[in-house]
Amino acid sequence: MPCPFGIRSAAHQLERQGAWASSYRAVLQRCGEEPWNMQVAIHKHMEGFVITNPCCSDAVQQWNDEHPELSIQAGHVIMELNGFSDYSNMREQLRSASTLNLLMSTVRDADQEKAFQVHLKREGLFAALDALVVKVHSVPGDCGAEACSICHEDMDGAENHGGGCCVRLPCGHHFHELCVKKWLVTGKHRCPLCNGHLDLQ
Ligand SMILES: [Zn+2]
Ligand SMILES: [Zn+2]
Repeated sequence: MPCPFGIRSAAHQLERQGAWASSYRAVLQRCGEEPWNMQVAIHKHMEGFVITNPCCSDAVQQWNDEHPELSIQAGHVIMELNGFSDYSNMREQLRSASTLNLLMSTVRDADQEKAFQVHLKREGLFAALDALVVKVHSVPGDCGAEACSICHEDMDGAENHGGGCCVRLPCGHHFHELCVKKWLVTGKHRCPLCNGHLDLQ
């Protein structure tokens, strides 16, 4: 059978008894070295990984198309991955395994909920930032700023700087998009250069 995205999904089973009442199992398989692109939230003492953006992954998208009754959604928790439930092994499997056997939970415990809420808050902040800034696809010298005032690297390297572009804040100052996002999640809603207030509510 051909792999439309270089990926195909395999069999699944439901576990609907006792403690597993809110769980399901999903088996994803990839062809070749396609990255999984699984977007997850984690927290220091948390068990499992919380899925944040399943649409980033072709493998998950394909699974969801084929198994709508067992679809992997934002907020669902990966409890066990290829038999592992500890952070470092799960992380390693996500990097290197060509098959992912996932024990998923549709409910979150307190720590998992916290990690998910932190993620949602960040997303809200970034969406507000997107609405506020002008994105400048900079040619050297084009945006009027030589270097980003946060990381001090050239603006013309913006495309290579974590994949983000150059953004202009309402006050007129330019930064790498990624640098300004990292700045915002520290809780400072002001321009790093002139202290101009950013209305991100
Ligand atoms: Zn920067
Ligand atoms: Zn400014």
